[in-house]
Amino acid sequence: MKIFDLHIEGQRNPLGMKLSSPRFSWKFLDTPRGFTQETFRIQVSGDLAFHNMIWDSGVVSDSQSHLVEYRGVSLHAGRRYWVRVRASGGGEKTEEWCAPEWFEFAPSKWRSAFIAVESDSSARSSAVRLVRKDFFLPFAPKTARLYATALGTYRADLNGKPVSDAILAPGWTSYDQRLAFQCYDIGTLVVRGNNEIRCLVSPGWYKGFLGWRKQRNLYGKRLALSAWMEIVGESGQRMVFETDGSWESSASPWSCAELYHGEVYDARLEDCEEWEPVEVIMPPKAVILPQEWPSVRPQGELWGQPIKTPDGMSVFDFGRNISGVVRIVAHGPQGSRIVIRHAETLDRFGNVYYGNLRSARQTIDYTLSGKGAESFAPQFCTMGFRYIVVEQGIEFLDQTNLTAVVYHSDFEPGMEFECSHSGISKLHENILWGWKGNAVDVPTDCPQRDERLGWTGDAQVFASTALRLTKSDLFFRKWLGDLRSDQHPDGAVPLVVPDVLSRFRQPKNEPIMGPPHTAAGWSDAAVVVPWEVYRATGDVRVLRESFQSMLAWVNRVRDIAGERLIWNQSPQLGDWLALDAKEGSFFGATPTDLVATACFARSVELVAKAARALGKNGMAKEYRVLHGRILKAFQDEFLTANGRVAAPTQTAHALILAWELCPGSHRQRIVDDLASLLGQNNGHLTTGFLGTPVLCDALSGAGRSDLAYALLLKEDYPSWLYQVGRGATTVWEHWDGMKPDGTMWNPKMNSFNHYAYGAVGDWMYRTIGGIRLDPDVPAYRRTILRPKPEGGITWARHTVETPYGSLSMSWEINGDILKVQAMVPPNTTACLMLPDGEKELGAGSWTEECIWPQ
Ligand code: BGC
Repeated sequence: MKIFDLHIEGQRNPLGMKLSSPRFSWKFLDTPRGFTQETFRIQVSGDLAFHNMIWDSGVVSDSQSHLVEYRGVSLHAGRRYWVRVRASGGGEKTEEWCAPEWFEFAPSKWRSAFIAVESDSSARSSAVRLVRKDFFLPFAPKTARLYATALGTYRADLNGKPVSDAILAPGWTSYDQRLAFQCYDIGTLVVRGNNEIRCLVSPGWYKGFLGWRKQRNLYGKRLALSAWMEIVGESGQRMVFETDGSWESSASPWSCAELYHGEVYDARLEDCEEWEPVEVIMPPKAVILPQEWPSVRPQGELWGQPIKTPDGMSVFDFGRNISGVVRIVAHGPQGSRIVIRHAETLDRFGNVYYGNLRSARQTIDYTLSGKGAESFAPQFCTMGFRYIVVEQGIEFLDQTNLTAVVYHSDFEPGMEFECSHSGISKLHENILWGWKGNAVDVPTDCPQRDERLGWTGDAQVFASTALRLTKSDLFFRKWLGDLRSDQHPDGAVPLVVPDVLSRFRQPKNEPIMGPPHTAAGWSDAAVVVPWEVYRATGDVRVLRESFQSMLAWVNRVRDIAGERLIWNQSPQLGDWLALDAKEGSFFGATPTDLVATACFARSVELVAKAARALGKNGMAKEYRVLHGRILKAFQDEFLTANGRVAAPTQTAHALILAWELCPGSHRQRIVDDLASLLGQNNGHLTTGFLGTPVLCDALSGAGRSDLAYALLLKEDYPSWLYQVGRGATTVWEHWDGMKPDGTMWNPKMNSFNHYAYGAVGDWMYRTIGGIRLDPDVPAYRRTILRPKPEGGITWARHTVETPYGSLSMSWEINGDILKVQAMVPPNTTACLMLPDGEKELGAGSWTEECIWPQ
């Protein structure tokens, strides 16, 4: 028996964590069947040999192997600590200590000056600036760290080598309140003697174009950098080099780098710097905090295939809709240009379609240096694309060497899923890629048009699916920090986080974008997202951090709803983009007061559960009582005495069933009514952003999984598989993004990479995959395994990477026999629910068979 995969605060060997009492998680290999940990022992040391012991927990009788908190003396920033664990259980001990991992804390105070790297009249410039400093190191370095941040986004090179492959650092936070810094190990890059650090700083989210109003400078007007290097020699000598007035800046070969528009680069300007002094400016008021979440990094490459389009353009197809950039290799005379545009899809004639990009240019404009083979890939933007069109300079391009680099936040994978229905397996793949394309430091709505914002509604409906697809808890935890920063003192929560809408010069024709920042199903992200992170990870710190914000939000709605507890304030987004909307409208037919009061009830219920998880029993009771009162008010207002729902829409019925808003006695009637609403629509859905994520659950939870499957397996418009059938490689924003006749939905808002409708993934993985979280036990410490084979699906395989190890289940139907194989991770249990009864399973692998009633 062995311990492996030791994580510290959810990370491997974290460099630059916030100073705190860290928590350790570990997994087991080769354990006896039914293994439960009985004791553990953790040691933390100042050296790898574990001579300089800092904490020895001693043998602790406890079964917890996930998020076990350090309880030793205070730890210090800038030092490396090593940790190792051993454990026992089931009559066995781990053979030895596990392989040690290390962690380091970042300094808690930011020390360096901010230097402006361009003049104060550069507000309208989209250029990238270069900044540099020479420094002399009189000793050989033993350890060296670079701490850096920027107003803008930056990349740093030391002695000509990049310090990291991450892009878009310092990432996007609510810059007025929170600015992240990064910590890099530069020990192998600095040398005794002369050294040079160079950084490129680009407009990014800070000063570039942001949002659909073609506005820029939403956070500031002038790019700046702040950094320091701390270098320690073999005999303890220590030197610090930091940004100050002696650094120099210059123009760079990039005359433009914009997140939406792409990059304009002139390779003739390489090595033509004209250095100017920088100016030390006032530091921002924001808290400068260490980045404790995954960076945006390259995640693989795709080859481009040339395709012929009727318009005769030079087009390459990368086979899937992604967020990323292309890397080109070119050869040609000095001054020749290559211009490449990126797009998501082809139109009905087979030509590349740019219509849905709105003002986003998504273009590379590269001028050759003429010095032989030259290679270029954008470094300060990502684009949403599957196709590129080489508008100019195809003759200079090495067409055999054209790749797309996929970029998104660097997650560990969270699961695998496959089933006998190839369309559903493909849908799963599309859901996963839709998530990847929209996880670029912030959970965004889309990666292509001039938007790419952290829409709260999209994030909250998709969070449970995202947290299963990938280990994205630290990503969401970061975003929740921004949500809390942007939450208004009265508890209102903006529609996008980081909130840039409030920075727009307010339009008169889009009132929803401004105050009062209270839109049901969007602002509820304040409650739903922390709750989902807690369920996936069992991390109470996340709930603790967000609890006041959760409370503030539901209390705000309680105030708005008043005595009647009916939330009928407008404007609202309602069941956004539902197909039962009036012609040309975005707003579904379900009355917004019904949707809003339903969301209110659900958020209050989750607050009560969060209070219970935090041991705040009084509060749990208070919000349970409030929840009961809202249910009563909801039922009085929206249900007749016989259980007829006031609004004859699928979404109204689905919300009521999924969130248990009706008395039990009315459930059957409501599910029957929902079935007939579906029947009237030939079994098709009409739901939008809020109804769709709960529709299959509403049906299967009320005993009609046959209908849920039928809905999921529909192949004609509108349905999930309709998109798959049309060759989608991600999930679309609109059911009718591309209509059956090949025409497009309105180009004003028609993304082919929007994850919201992919929220059905959570239902698929729970129901077809058959692995579900126990409602009362977070983090898969106890799991419900319940395969529900229907819809002609004959087998499925699903694995979830839980904090305790891989949990997998596969099932297969052969004739009337259902065969199930499960692998329950060490130190956890599962309840297997089959038609012939329930069985508690301990850790280990299990095979069960039963008669499957056809
Ligand atoms: C976004 C959505 C968002 C909606 C709300 C759209 O433009 O792309 O996903 O939730 O606006 O207004």
